[in-house]
Amino acid sequence: MEKNIEKVLVTEEQIQSKVAEFAEILSAEYADKDPVFVGVLKGVVVFFADVVRKITVPCEIDFMCLSSYGGTDSTGNVTVKKDLSVDIKGRHVVILEDIYDTGNSLSFLHKYLLSKEPASLKICTLLDKPERRKSDIKADYAGTFVPNEFVVGYGLDYAEYYRNLPFIGVLKESVYENNN
Ligand code: 5GP
Ligand code: MG
Repeated sequence: MEKNIEKVLVTEEQIQSKVAEFAEILSAEYADKDPVFVGVLKGVVVFFADVVRKITVPCEIDFMCLSSYGGTDSTGNVTVKKDLSVDIKGRHVVILEDIYDTGNSLSFLHKYLLSKEPASLKICTLLDKPERRKSDIKADYAGTFVPNEFVVGYGLDYAEYYRNLPFIGVLKESVYENNN
């Protein structure tokens, strides 16, 4: 698996230091707010599990699954494949995301969750890839900048593989050519 990596963009240590930083900030900010952390499947699972295990205050967790149509350069047609199971009306909600790229999915999700009337809604993303941005939604807590390259690892996939790498990297061209 690692032989297919061209370069590492964010090391395991750098990721874990961001995770610790986010968990500390969120624990302080939401200490008496009984927050709900909402993860967007599947890419967020590794980041999500690491962050919530370091949160030191009472919280609930929930997940959504979105699908977007229109190929890789999504036209913004996002639909809900799996909805929340917690009622977030009047609750303090934080969306956790793996990567904020074009923003199509986050802007959809932000609007969708606001329609459920939470007391507050914030966004925390591990990776920020601003070059293809089409949305003006602000990430309240944004982690590491990544250039406009397709990244894998730490939850992020290529054709459903590489999610279990502990770092964020870029694949060799040959992987796409051979489709493995
Ligand atoms: P959006 O373009 O709507 O901001 O991002 C939607 C989703 O596309 C992200 O949550 C993520 O799952 C996926 N995505 C965006 N950029 C990348 C990338 O560089 N690599 C991988 N594996 N997935 C990405
Ligand atoms: Mg995602």
